[in-house]
Amino acid sequence: MSTELGARVDVHVHPTRYSRHGATFAEKNRIEFTPAGLLREMDAHGIGWGVFLCPRLAPSLADGLADVSAVARESRGRLLPTGTVDPTQGEAEVARALDLWTRNGTRLRGIKLYPGYHPFDVTDARLEPVYHWAEQHRVPVWVHQGDTSEPDGLLRFTRPILLDEVAVRWRSVRFVLCHVGNPWMEEAAEVVFKNENVYTDTSGLLNPFAEHYAAQVQRMRTRLRHAVLAVGDVRKVLYGSDWPISSIVDAVGLVDGLDLPRPDKELILGGNARELLGLPDAAPM
Ligand SMILES: [Zn+2]
Repeated sequence: MSTELGARVDVHVHPTRYSRHGATFAEKNRIEFTPAGLLREMDAHGIGWGVFLCPRLAPSLADGLADVSAVARESRGRLLPTGTVDPTQGEAEVARALDLWTRNGTRLRGIKLYPGYHPFDVTDARLEPVYHWAEQHRVPVWVHQGDTSEPDGLLRFTRPILLDEVAVRWRSVRFVLCHVGNPWMEEAAEVVFKNENVYTDTSGLLNPFAEHYAAQVQRMRTRLRHAVLAVGDVRKVLYGSDWPISSIVDAVGLVDGLDLPRPDKELILGGNARELLGLPDAAPM
């Protein structure tokens, strides 16, 4: 550990051992797909913390929690652990998840839901105990929204507008609408604008396999700036990468290159997330 401090936060990373396509993205992005590799990339960009969103492909709830908890410990608290559950597995599975989250040795810093990858949307009644748990434990709920990285995902479950109803019903729970709902970025921005308790993250907006990659980055930067302006409050926008889908250098570069004042960009790159997660001003790297 050096004496350098990192004030930035990446609110959306997947340094998991349970990944279907992570290695393919890592190879394309020329990155080392291990927690240590991620930490080195974070160090190079002043990122003190990353939020490790619990893998959906772990063999069991307990395996997923063991993965995020081990990485949290090995990273000395820099990679923050979260939980996940698929409500279509039934009420007993949801109850089991809440119990495991409560008893987990390493305190969870959030919950991640994967609508679209699993056939449910956020208004599903089976999720009510999850929102209640998040309210009691004062942790944000990350919600996958928009395009799925796999063709067998179902897009009708991923429309940002669906989160509006949940945000209204659960006013004391804070939600992170992932990927600015891409491609429905304007719809996502409206849900964030309207609801004080909804934030959005900039993760997963770049596809390293896309044709004309440099032009795609420019196009996305323009769309992201429009979304930030539509949100109308830079404090609701959080930098995320979706590592290893994006490298840290590319994901930070997307935000760094926005035509916005520097202080606004630093809020997106860290200040807003530190506030949301109750983190100190900086972490030793
Ligand atoms: Zn992700």
